[in-house]
Amino acid sequence: MAPLRFAVKDGFAGAGRLAGFSATLREAVARARSLGAPDGAALRGLQAEAERFDGLGGDARRGALIRLAGHLSSLIEVPGEVAEAARLGTVRPSAGPGPAPQEAAPPRRTSPRTASPKAPPPAPPPAQPSRPVPAPTPPAAPGHPPPPPPPWGSSITLDTPLADLPGVHASPRALLEERGRLTAGQALEFWPRTWQDRTTLRRIAELPVGQEGIVLASVQAVRQRRMRNGRAMLEVSVTDGSAPLGLVFFNAPPWKEKQVKPGDTLLCWGKVGEGFGGRKQMANPELERHQPGDSANFSRIVPIYPGPAGWQHPALRKVMKRLCDELAPRAPEDLPAAVRERRRLLSRGEALRQAHFPAPGSDLVAAAARATPAFRRLVFEEFFFLQLGLARRRRGVKAEAGIVFETGPRAMAAAVARLPFGLTGSQQKVLAEIARDMARPEPMNRLLQGDVGSGKTAVAFVAALLAVQSGWQAALMAPTEILAAQHAATLRRWLEGSGIEVALIGALARGGAQKAAREAVRSGRARVAVGTHALLEESVAFERLGLVVVDEQHRFGVMQRASLMAKGKRPDVLVMTATPIPRTLALAFYGDLDQSKITELPPGRSPVETRLFGESQRKKVLDAVQAELAAGRQAYVVYPLVEESEKSDLADATSGAETLGKSFAPHAVGLLHGRMKGEEKQAVMEAFRRGDLKVLVATTVIEVGVDVPNATVMVVEHAERFGLSQLHQLRGRVGRGAARSSCLLLAQLRQAGADARERLQALCATQDGFELARVDLKLRGPGELLGTRQSGQALLEVADLYRDEAILDEAREEAFALVEADPDLAAPEHRATARALAQRWAGRLSLAQVG
Ligand code: ADP
Ligand code: MG
Repeated sequence: MAPLRFAVKDGFAGAGRLAGFSATLREAVARARSLGAPDGAALRGLQAEAERFDGLGGDARRGALIRLAGHLSSLIEVPGEVAEAARLGTVRPSAGPGPAPQEAAPPRRTSPRTASPKAPPPAPPPAQPSRPVPAPTPPAAPGHPPPPPPPWGSSITLDTPLADLPGVHASPRALLEERGRLTAGQALEFWPRTWQDRTTLRRIAELPVGQEGIVLASVQAVRQRRMRNGRAMLEVSVTDGSAPLGLVFFNAPPWKEKQVKPGDTLLCWGKVGEGFGGRKQMANPELERHQPGDSANFSRIVPIYPGPAGWQHPALRKVMKRLCDELAPRAPEDLPAAVRERRRLLSRGEALRQAHFPAPGSDLVAAAARATPAFRRLVFEEFFFLQLGLARRRRGVKAEAGIVFETGPRAMAAAVARLPFGLTGSQQKVLAEIARDMARPEPMNRLLQGDVGSGKTAVAFVAALLAVQSGWQAALMAPTEILAAQHAATLRRWLEGSGIEVALIGALARGGAQKAAREAVRSGRARVAVGTHALLEESVAFERLGLVVVDEQHRFGVMQRASLMAKGKRPDVLVMTATPIPRTLALAFYGDLDQSKITELPPGRSPVETRLFGESQRKKVLDAVQAELAAGRQAYVVYPLVEESEKSDLADATSGAETLGKSFAPHAVGLLHGRMKGEEKQAVMEAFRRGDLKVLVATTVIEVGVDVPNATVMVVEHAERFGLSQLHQLRGRVGRGAARSSCLLLAQLRQAGADARERLQALCATQDGFELARVDLKLRGPGELLGTRQSGQALLEVADLYRDEAILDEAREEAFALVEADPDLAAPEHRATARALAQRWAGRLSLAQVG
């Protein structure tokens, strides 16, 4: 409504200056429709005007405005000047261009610039209590200010590089480009950090020191000064009649001085401080000469963008405003109309606009929490396309023909009987879910979550045995050589006497043994193959692969999973992860998998007491280890090892092993690290398992899955350098037997940041992996938690898995329903969605492809 009022005022003087009004109108019509306005002649009339308005010349515009006013006033209550314009329409039903109505124009405000420089400064604007920042004033005297730039032509789209956008200044452009925003569309997705309400004017006299505020004041004097330290300072004295105010600029760019002239009327925004002699002052305020036109920086709720506040920000806002006004409405709508309607979502263009420039009166608290309709739409969209990719992949998998395994009670009992223990209730439950999947003709695609030590290996074993009993082969893929060897050993132990052969594929079995193992798998003599990603190599062939179990999924990419799947006809897939994944994260990234969870630990476990120590308490920690060793127990000492400082980390672990060897003598101390050869590692691990080595000093290679129940204490060196889920995994190496266990964290607490301290404290406070995963999600975001750097990070830009759970559920529901109804998104009304899906996921995770 504001632009319309502006345009019809003063005898339609503003009509020619309306930029991008077609888009505004189109949005208004869409909004009216979505609010349930009857789709009558008035709305259709508005729509028609919207389509042609921008293209009309000045005179034609007057007619169009009159028609618009007429349509509008038949729909809603309109302000006086608009109603006035509408009446002109009824007088001249031809509604063609006519002479400007002969109304007496109200006295125009004298433009400050037109005042002679000699003349005393014009009277300051009358001081009133809080009031709205004045709406754009009627057009001023000729030549001042410069007319707004012509609107961008239709050749300019969201894909246009910022560099090719006319009228975008270099400094805001650089600011955007530095952040990887190279096109108009990318710039529009540079989200504000927060917003500020700049709609209320205050009187200088009433502005409390220490608060931010806006004043409208006229310039009395401008002075350039040099401070004692030699730096330049620009000082501008202004007043609004209630009190004087000093505006000071430090290190002001040269153009700043030219920006202000005595006599100018300025809008100033800043934080009020106290200057010399108690006079109020604003340091480095934002200024704008009070002038007609729609301001990006005042008279509205303005966006505050990330990064330090700088001189460029007002200019950045101007660019964003223009993008919002002119290009956001051209944003293609990629959600199906039915979804938008059902979920009450704004159009993409409107959401983009409001995300930057919320309407006056918007809830700023909600905006800061991104809980506005604009962000709801944007978050929904982000989740929707992610889920759509997952839904399509799941559907693709389900549509293939899979294997029907025999999983009845007798088969199940036979498999379970091989285990040296009874299953926990939780293990039984997930096995029932797995067996049900395996018995179905569609391929299984299931994620099994279970905290460290919850007994996932036993579950995998039973599933593998079910496959073998049905005449198929099973493959178990582990993330490390050591773990693969350990799994192979465990499986062989449990299969003793069954005649079922287990082959170990990978670097640990070399030369002839490796060749024999591969041959056994290829010929089908070995029914179970255990290995690392070596299993993915082309040279590894199976006779009849029916089940693939991937242990510790987060270390493998989604791609690797797919390539193992391709080795069989269409094997069933069970993915196991010990990194508890919060529900939202699991839905967002593993939404193509069905999910099972082991929620209880095997009986007889004791909680691991976890304590945090500073470097000065090292002796205490070593004494605690000494005591365990004296009681016949074993210990782990873990050192961090990161690629960037690999050399010094390795030196740390090596010298640590030497020192500990001396202090723990005669107990034998061994060293294990990733640089060692496969057999060496294997030998050390075996010695520790047998109990020949009492202390194992290791870099994080022991992180996953190693199982030595007699080890009851773990020391973590430089605990501040580990991630939370990593620490939780490490800790899972102890507390595997019935004996009391402890995890002692040695940390350089003083250097550690607040995040590190929060991590370590959370770890001490709970052993609940899911709770820890939530903390981790909050502290580090999804990318890190998934372990693969590329996965989380780039996928979610606006959505927050911690905050937007409800929206995720809605988006997931819609996406899966859509794929159910129209698997190929072939219906005409889904074409835009299909295109957007392909674009979004091009090259990423192959989510857009089926299967
Ligand atoms: P994770 O889920 O971390 O892979 P594991 O499968 O390594 O856990 O199991 C941890 C330990 O618990 C192993 O020593 C395993 O043999 C034992 N275990 C697993 N299930 C049971 C059970 N139902 N009863 C007793 N011990 C079990
Ligand atoms: Mg395991």
